Amino acid sequence: MKWIDYTSPASIDEAISILAGQKGKAKSLAGGTDLIVQMRAAPQRLNNPDIIVDIKSIPELNQIKFGGNGLTIGAAVPCYKIYRDSKIATTYPGLIDSASIIGGTQIQGRASLGGNLCNAAPSGDSIPSLIVHNVTCTIAGPKGERTVSAEEFCTGPGKTILNSDEILVSLHFPTPPKGFGARYIRFIPRNEMDIAVVGAGVSVVLNQSGKIANAKIALASVAPTPIVIGDAADCLIGQEPTESVVNNAGQIARNSIKPITDMRGTVEFRQQLSDVLTRRALNDAITRAKGGTL
Ligand SMILES: Cc1cc2nc3c(=O)[nH]c(=O)nc-3n(C[C@H](O)[C@H](O)[C@H](O)COP(=O)(O)OP(=O)(O)OC[C@H]3O[C@@H](n4cnc5c(N)ncnc54)[C@H](O)[C@@H]3O)c2cc1C
Repeated sequence: MKWIDYTSPASIDEAISILAGQKGKAKSLAGGTDLIVQMRAAPQRLNNPDIIVDIKSIPELNQIKFGGNGLTIGAAVPCYKIYRDSKIATTYPGLIDSASIIGGTQIQGRASLGGNLCNAAPSGDSIPSLIVHNVTCTIAGPKGERTVSAEEFCTGPGKTILNSDEILVSLHFPTPPKGFGARYIRFIPRNEMDIAVVGAGVSVVLNQSGKIANAKIALASVAPTPIVIGDAADCLIGQEPTESVVNNAGQIARNSIKPITDMRGTVEFRQQLSDVLTRRALNDAITRAKGGTL
């Protein structure tokens, strides 16, 4: 392994100025469960950093804050702090679905939602959940702050809209409207510690008469980035949440993806999973939207 410097800035400004000064040769580190593993696996990789900027000590990246308009989670907050927070668990159970399945207990002690999003794996288990919760990402850079939606964040495998001198500061979850329910489920060949063959995140909002007023569906591992399946969600809107309506959404999800065949599954298997997981996630989200628990 080559010599690598390490620094742990105490503020966003300090982190940005280090990143900007390194002109692409520095990388942010949150939990390190992707970054360190990737650097060890391929020490000669061209985009390995000369300096690691450990952003865990920056207060804004470690916050968990409920405000009038929702929840803000710092980009470096480890998963265990999220799923152990009873208010988050009650208000955003669909997020807990993701935070509690990333790796195992040890990984969850370090792994962050920010790192999962910035790593931009097609299979990233938090990304569909962030998308269906309509999360806004706050990014800081030399020119100040900007915000983008979670669905705009990943641009390709391992690629994001972040410039090399920017950091993801936090993720904002709007207050769920009345009648909101969300769910994330995935298929992996074993019980844990594996990459999703397909992952399905969904959210629904039921109106007072029990019809679906809004819906969002996002799938992981079926495209170069986690993607929104707009047509499948659109077909739900204005409908009673019946079995046939849910089945129709699953069929549309299945037909609207163009996955690849790899060591984890074939195109046909991923299409079948997209149908099944979309239906199951929808049924669970509808249960939650009605105030039920799983
Ligand atoms: C054994 C094992 C099991 C795993 N299981 C799963 C799983 O089930 N599901 C899953 O989705 N993933 C899994 N992962 C991958 C990894 O744990 C997750 O992606 C995790 O959420 C990454 O978070 P982190 O804080 O460790 O990120 P890091 O490794 O610190 O960072 C990841 C990338 O994001 C960048 N980055 C991090 N934070 C920021 C920021 N705030 N601003 C700008 N850039 C940033 C880093 O530079 C790096 O490129 C697993 C990993 C291991 C080793």
